[in-house]
Amino acid sequence: MRRFQPWLVFLVLVISAAPLRAQDRAQDRLNVVASFSILGDFVRNVGGELVSVTTLVGPDGDVHVYTPAPADAKKIADAKLLVINGLGLEGWLPRLLQASGSKAPIVTATDGIAPLKLGSDADPHAWQSVANAKIYVGNIRNALVTADPADAEIFRANAENYLTKLDALDREVRAAIAQIPQNHRKVISTHDAFGYFAAGYGIDFIAPLGVSTESEVSARDIAKIITQIKKSGIPAVFLENISDNRLMRRISAETGARVGGTLYSDALTDEKGVAPTYIDMVRHNIKALTSALAK
Ligand code: ZN
Repeated sequence: MRRFQPWLVFLVLVISAAPLRAQDRAQDRLNVVASFSILGDFVRNVGGELVSVTTLVGPDGDVHVYTPAPADAKKIADAKLLVINGLGLEGWLPRLLQASGSKAPIVTATDGIAPLKLGSDADPHAWQSVANAKIYVGNIRNALVTADPADAEIFRANAENYLTKLDALDREVRAAIAQIPQNHRKVISTHDAFGYFAAGYGIDFIAPLGVSTESEVSARDIAKIITQIKKSGIPAVFLENISDNRLMRRISAETGARVGGTLYSDALTDEKGVAPTYIDMVRHNIKALTSALAK
């Protein structure tokens, strides 16, 4: 009979631990490109240490009117997975994809979300409802599992953990809105970025610009909004981190509605800002809304 060989057990352990150690090395991380900062944050939460995330439109950037740089084609060409919002948000993407020659699979994070319409256009800002953000995270988890099946269990556990945080965030939003008297639940924002937030949580948003910051605002639209603010006694207008604020300051001056602060609509801030993550962004927005309206 052969004798038990302790060195054999040792060898088996070393061999089975090797793949895990390899994953720790940066060059082995799955290279994921997200079209803008909010998606990048979702990917980081689900992918954790196993992914390296690059975003095309960075902090405080306006994804509606983005002009891709040559470096973006290179980023996409090197990607193993491309995460986009869809619903017409990334109008600049098809040309960029063609220029890059990328073969990376593309996941549309809004798949399965029933889009709101504004006129004939789909409203792309689905992430502004936390319930929708959970659908984004589910789609991203599934795409990461497909791209790297060996690490499926880790992606599933990370997603589960993050989804629990999003459930808590959703409760926080509802509790914050409940503090605002019913007749104060009206605000003016720069562009129509908060349709899903409005539908999900019961605050009316009125905006001089449409669902895209690309649209021009006419003198007539501004006059209409000014009349509306005066008539319904809307207490506050909000600035946005991605937009030029002169229009909102003018509306505030002409109506006496206070500037209630800045809402983070389509982009996170950098690490030093007030909204470097999606959860920080939503928390900042509900704080700005309640401090302007809950009196
Ligand atoms: Zn927008």
